[in-house]
Amino acid sequence: MKRLIVRQHGPPDSIETEEVERPEPGPGEVRVAVHAVGLNHLDVWVRRGVEGHRFPLPLVPGSDIAGVVDTGPRKGERVALHPATSCMACAACMAGQDNRCSQYRIRGERQDGGCAQFVVCHERDLLPIPEGMAFADAAALPLAALTAWQMLRLAEAGRGDRVLVLGGTSGVGSMAIQIARMRGCTVAATAGTPAKRERCRELGAEVVIDHYQDFRWKADVVVEHVGAATWERSLKSLDWGGRLVTCGATTGHAVDLDLRALFFKQQRLIGSTMGTRDDMRQVWLAVHSGLLQPVVGARLGMRDIARAHEALEEGSVAGKAVLVQDL
Ligand SMILES: [Zn+2]
Repeated sequence: MKRLIVRQHGPPDSIETEEVERPEPGPGEVRVAVHAVGLNHLDVWVRRGVEGHRFPLPLVPGSDIAGVVDTGPRKGERVALHPATSCMACAACMAGQDNRCSQYRIRGERQDGGCAQFVVCHERDLLPIPEGMAFADAAALPLAALTAWQMLRLAEAGRGDRVLVLGGTSGVGSMAIQIARMRGCTVAATAGTPAKRERCRELGAEVVIDHYQDFRWKADVVVEHVGAATWERSLKSLDWGGRLVTCGATTGHAVDLDLRALFFKQQRLIGSTMGTRDDMRQVWLAVHSGLLQPVVGARLGMRDIARAHEALEEGSVAGKAVLVQDL
């Protein structure tokens, strides 16, 4: 079978195609014929490299995978894959905090991902795709929805809370808007273009804000993933007793913090990465109930991965970029 491979960090066109043996499932595993892979900003970090961080190269990219089970009793079932695995045996895993496991490995980051004709995974990682949902739509959901779900849970976003979502048409942003609305919150979202702001409204944001403006919107919860470029404005938007939850630093990781405002206003800063298996179960229930809609902004072939990376880096896609199978 064919697969894409990141051998060394480099520009978008440095991702290679290679021919390898089709993988055979081990005990408890199934093989899945891949139909679509959703891209995340993580794909850009893996390809480019991150200072002070080592990725286990060579690596098959792609965290969000959708396809058809190819082996065993569930053969023929349309599925998405849980985007990460853990040891399932340590104290964190046993306590339902699998995303704190020292063996936690996101597909396409610490283990091979889905940009291939076939992948193998444990049967417990299969997420059945709702009837009528396209593979590309299913592949747009797991990682971003899981990430946003845990963020709003940790921030205790509840009925009547004002939630400010940065980058409302990004993967995490588009999910955070919808999940915050599900939790009964009032939502404002930032976006860089009129078209993106319109998309935020369609997703449920009552207030939309120009991402590049000097915005300040009093919020009980701020959903951050942009980092240095928006940090100061995000903090200034945070009301007394507010919670700022962050899962990323796309524009830079070094930020300033005035401790006086933090303690005087009794605010909380919360770090969040991915989500637990229980979060994923709830996300997938919401997907099956039609409460959580995928937001696909671009659909390309896997062979066009370089173009997809360029679009991600430009921020020109409103929603997820998804690669469909053409290897
Ligand atoms: Zn574990």
